[in-house]
Amino acid sequence: MGGNGHVRTLRERRHRQRRRLQKKGTSAARRVLRRLSGREHRMMTDLNHQISKFVVREAERTGRGIALEDLQGIRGRVRAHRLQRRTLHTWAFAQQITFTRYKAACAGVAFVLIDPAYTSQACPECGCVSRANRPARGRFVCTGCGLAGHADHIAARNIATRGIAGWAAINQPHATGLPSPRRDRESKPPASTGGS
Ligand SMILES: [Zn+2]
Repeated sequence: MGGNGHVRTLRERRHRQRRRLQKKGTSAARRVLRRLSGREHRMMTDLNHQISKFVVREAERTGRGIALEDLQGIRGRVRAHRLQRRTLHTWAFAQQITFTRYKAACAGVAFVLIDPAYTSQACPECGCVSRANRPARGRFVCTGCGLAGHADHIAARNIATRGIAGWAAINQPHATGLPSPRRDRESKPPASTGGS
């Protein structure tokens, strides 16, 4: 997921606004802060519902499964990027995963969380992993085989490949040497996160 420019811009603007208000520190400023975060949460929740609904419907329609990057180590590993330490960002990603997992389960669509390590630096053709494969922002050019493309598309191919491997592992729980993504049978319906 990601790459939603509109949401990012909005989030940045809210973030700046919040910083300004936090500096003020008055009770009126704190009130505005609380109202802001409530509205922000409702907006993100709504958007996450729409995105997850769309993704699951597409997967169902095309007979495919869904693989998402486990960006916060929900599956176990703790890995916080600087940006993700911002609570809303982290919260929004976690919610996106929860919603998608739940809707996928309801629709009988395969859902896997994958290890996000090097998904943006690895070449899906030859397997070369290097920071040099990313000469510019948004661009991927493999130093090994020359495969070039939009960085997000390349990363998506890597995620899909790992998703397939992860799903195979789920369905062969006794296989050795394979990653073992958590089974998602017991996922609960997402709690309403409207207000707060
Ligand atoms: Zn390559």
